[in-house]
Amino acid sequence: MKAILTDITRCIGCDKCKEACYNQYNKGKVCAISADAKDDLSEATWTTVLLVDRGNVFVKDMDQEKPDFPKDVSEQTILSLPQTAFVRKQCLHCNEPTCEAVCPVGAFHKDQETGAVIYESHKCIGCRYCMYACPFGIPRYEWGTPFPVVQKCILCYEEIKTGRKPACTEACQDGATIFGDRDELIAEAHRRIEQEPGRYRNHVYGEHEAGGTAVLYLTKPQVPLDFLFHQRLGVDPLPSYTWQWLAKVPTIGMSAAFAGTGLFWIIKRRNLLAQGEEALERKEPHA
Ligand code: SF4
Ligand code: SF4
Ligand code: SF4
Repeated sequence: MKAILTDITRCIGCDKCKEACYNQYNKGKVCAISADAKDDLSEATWTTVLLVDRGNVFVKDMDQEKPDFPKDVSEQTILSLPQTAFVRKQCLHCNEPTCEAVCPVGAFHKDQETGAVIYESHKCIGCRYCMYACPFGIPRYEWGTPFPVVQKCILCYEEIKTGRKPACTEACQDGATIFGDRDELIAEAHRRIEQEPGRYRNHVYGEHEAGGTAVLYLTKPQVPLDFLFHQRLGVDPLPSYTWQWLAKVPTIGMSAAFAGTGLFWIIKRRNLLAQGEEALERKEPHA
């Protein structure tokens, strides 16, 4: 399986990855982003580069007026600031994707060869279940179109199948986001941590989270990526919870059916009793 490894310690926030993706898939498309959005992903922007500073996450183009927005972060200084970093965000291409598990029409499927969670928009009925189910808040809705569907990064799976790399990784000249075999990238990530323990947090994000993902991250020791990965999710694939829940559905259904039958029986009996009393009253009018 293929994957992307993004090494936050090398990213200078130049946005070339974001521009390459936009030019490849959505050139000319514009869409409004709500002012209080946590990122600027949209139906036209499938990857973005956020700015993290001392635990605060900023959308570079939207949050510059905020009082704590770091004004002095340049491409030169960013690499040396221990608590500040640029962090790419895109679909994580989960090994066991929740979007696939909940989609009623099978618009998503995990492709084991490329690692991509492929999305087929022609199948999408716009129900937005995937948006609610994705634990990482990735799929976005085409709010401005008459027949909206969702959109997200597709890991350039057609390029990968023809031996090319995803456009975003091709565009990154700084080696901050690279493409390769998932096992080899995980080994490379651990090698980097071992060789420069002071430079890296001792964790390869995406190796195990939510059952593993095909987008992996290395980060600075003081820039945890919990805001991307939601550590509380643990390492179990999330669809396993879906199936645990679904396994209870027959029990829940039977219980509901019994409860409904009981309620129906009580109401019916009350009505019969009331009818009986009325009939009795008609037969024996009050004196
Ligand atoms: S990050 Fe969300 S949209 Fe992407 S594969 Fe995982 S569940 Fe699906
Ligand atoms: S992998 Fe392809 S679709 Fe996904 S963010 Fe990169 S360029 Fe865009
Ligand atoms: S990942 Fe590479 S291309 Fe994207 S912003 Fe960082 S340095 Fe630039």
